Amino acid sequence: MFSCDSRVLDILQTLHTAGFQAYLVGGCVRDALLGTVPHDYDCATSALPDEILSVCSQYHCIPTGVQHGTITVIHDGLPVEVTTFRMDGDYHDHRHPEQVSFTPELAHDLARRDFTINAMAWSEHGVVDLFGGQQDLEQKVLRCVGTPEQRFQEDALRILRGLRFAAQLGFSIHSDTASAIHTCFPLLSYVSQERITTEFSKLICGRFAEEILLSYSDVVAFLLPELAPTMNFQQHNPHHCYDIYTHSVKAMSHTSPKLHLRLAALLHDIGKPDCFTMDEQGIGHFYQHASLGAKQADQLCQRLRLDNATRSQVVTLIQSHGIVFSPTEKLIRRWLHRLGEDMFFDLLELQEADQSACADGLSENLPNIRTLATEILAQKPCLTLKELAVNGHDAIALGLHGKAIGTALSHLLHLVVEGELPNERTILLDALKKMAGEYGSTNKKV
Ligand code: ATP
Ligand code: MG
Repeated sequence: MFSCDSRVLDILQTLHTAGFQAYLVGGCVRDALLGTVPHDYDCATSALPDEILSVCSQYHCIPTGVQHGTITVIHDGLPVEVTTFRMDGDYHDHRHPEQVSFTPELAHDLARRDFTINAMAWSEHGVVDLFGGQQDLEQKVLRCVGTPEQRFQEDALRILRGLRFAAQLGFSIHSDTASAIHTCFPLLSYVSQERITTEFSKLICGRFAEEILLSYSDVVAFLLPELAPTMNFQQHNPHHCYDIYTHSVKAMSHTSPKLHLRLAALLHDIGKPDCFTMDEQGIGHFYQHASLGAKQADQLCQRLRLDNATRSQVVTLIQSHGIVFSPTEKLIRRWLHRLGEDMFFDLLELQEADQSACADGLSENLPNIRTLATEILAQKPCLTLKELAVNGHDAIALGLHGKAIGTALSHLLHLVVEGELPNERTILLDALKKMAGEYGSTNKKV
């Protein structure tokens, strides 16, 4: 059963009526055959870019990449990438074909695609499946189109795309494709970091990432050498039943698929190998590994060219992953204020995942902290300057200026978070007045 947005069918029909071949291709065919809604649509056609533009003039057209043959055709808000059938020339640098040429043959266009499940086309006449993609979909197998080594030599990113699709779809990787991945992965050094990071991020957020990261640890160690020492590193500690890497991957698979959280879980113990000590009883310890790991993760995230927000979230989570929260209102309020609500709950999730991947499993403490934090938030406590019952205007009206305004308000917020003052305007104005007097006299002395 193949269901598809009617606006896409309109575009295919428009091209057919003008006498051109036109098919849906790639990921949208795969997803529709799997019964999931495609998140975007690619169409391949025998029409040349200028012909696409003139035939589709009733729609809004954006010449996204005319030299590659791609026009984005937008029909009632739905963008469809329409691309002239292409065939690739020779590859020389393991990432780009020397030249790309247009072809009137759908078969050529399908043959240059990476995996059989991504190399099918669909039109109203049915599925065009030249490489056994439908059977592979049914059997949940990921397999290269053509000879795997050659396809990975041409464009090494396909190695990582293969692992990514397997991690998203839960497919097994065909033995020939798998052994080519194990031999060809050093070719990934020819691929730009941005392309690698895009695929790797999708991989670790995949539902089935655990299995892939464990079975292809050689590829992971190549991409993230900081993780190599954690592989097979026995922890000699009764709380742990896995080596550091296996524990980290299992912890990662317990987190929800948000990039910063998954990365933090995967990397949370990278500081451990350098911090390992063994006591007289033969028990292993890893003092200070969170701080060291946070520093290593900071550099690693920079190398991956992740955005600053993600990097800072990863570093904070790793730095804080060993904090033991006491179940008291005052302390939880303090942490909610320090970390912000979202990061606080992300940290709890990381800690829960960390515990779940240990010998003893999840303790009762963390769910209790979660409940308490939820109850505290339901009371709408003041945790940020924005929520404070006085503001900068009040401070100015009372005679404060410059840096003193921020200092005074931050101090008031601290007192409110700690429960030493209520968040009530008259009381806070009194406190602010006092501070204005103190700062004023300090200023005069200076
Ligand atoms: P997603 O759901 O992540 O978008 P997708 O299969 O659509 O998956 P895209 O990166 O959007 O992936 O690529 C669209 C199609 O282009 C693929 O299905 C595949 O046929 C082809 N393709 C993309 N990248 C490559 C590549 N590096 N080598 C060969 N074919 C590729
Ligand atoms: Mg796509």
